[in-house]
Amino acid sequence: MITAEELKVKWLADRRKGIGGSDVAAVFGEKYGCPRALFLDKTGVEPDYEHTEASLDLFDRGHSLEPLIADRFQRETGLAVRRMPSRVSKDRPWMRVNVDRIILSSAELGPEFEGPGYLECKSADREVFFEMRAHGMPEHYILQLQHGLAVTGWGWGAFAVLEPYTFKFLHFKVKRDERLIDVIKQVEEVFWKRVKAGDIPDKLEDFNDSRCQNCGYRLSCRNAEALPKEKKRKRIYEPDDSEEMDIIVGNIKMLDASIEEAEAQRKIERQKAVILMGDREAILVSGQGKKLLNSMRSGRQSWDTKALDTEQPQLAARYKRRGEAYSVLLMYDVNGNDE
Ligand code: SF4
Repeated sequence: MITAEELKVKWLADRRKGIGGSDVAAVFGEKYGCPRALFLDKTGVEPDYEHTEASLDLFDRGHSLEPLIADRFQRETGLAVRRMPSRVSKDRPWMRVNVDRIILSSAELGPEFEGPGYLECKSADREVFFEMRAHGMPEHYILQLQHGLAVTGWGWGAFAVLEPYTFKFLHFKVKRDERLIDVIKQVEEVFWKRVKAGDIPDKLEDFNDSRCQNCGYRLSCRNAEALPKEKKRKRIYEPDDSEEMDIIVGNIKMLDASIEEAEAQRKIERQKAVILMGDREAILVSGQGKKLLNSMRSGRQSWDTKALDTEQPQLAARYKRRGEAYSVLLMYDVNGNDE
């Protein structure tokens, strides 16, 4: 069986042959993606700065959980899924996709979801998972799935998402969006022409952009700016394997999970109430002893303290106040970043 390390090497070699599903975010400059970094990758430039452990762990996590997610999707939907080799677009050979799984066609799905479907398997941390459940998939995942449909030519796909800590799971079907696919094809074509012509995209404007801070090309792309900063003190964690502490931390984890879930659910219910109220400004729900008022408020005021510090440093120093120091308990995953 192919190991995660071998798969990663093959995946890196294959991705230089064209634009794959996981590249679309970078082509569009969405979320974690940067067109310049993608250009450097596609033109075979070796990264000059180490990737963070976290990004490698996430790749391994996604690869290891994929069969489990596909299996769960199959069990929960009753739809059969199969592995399949990567696919290349017929009319645009530089458009490619690694299909997580093909969903075999099923007459039970009706005419809207005819033919085979494209399954995109994702694993997501609690916060991201509840965000997806409350507000739908983020743009870069939508682009990724529609890219997959553009390459395969299939009419529909589905997301299957697992939250690995509580094993909560969600899945839903998505139809092919011809207008979005046209945009994806156009933007990817422009990008691929630039790759072939050696026309490197501009740097992102702000080096403080988190994409730059974690980029494998940050040394050559940002030169001196990327030189390692002063070394931070290495924190020592003293082991505490007492039963009492184990129970307390377990309780905190459980409560954190329920609070996040309850908050996500609360958001959904509030949105449902607003939709149900329609044009009505105020309603009385006597069964629950509550009055609901849907009123417009002016936007929250905020200060650009960064600009104030830079442009008016004296004024900022004069009026800035710092409260008394207080202690706060922070909790990180064992392999997580605690900075
Ligand atoms: S350092 Fe920033 S601008 Fe340069 S390639 Fe990386 S993400 Fe893009």
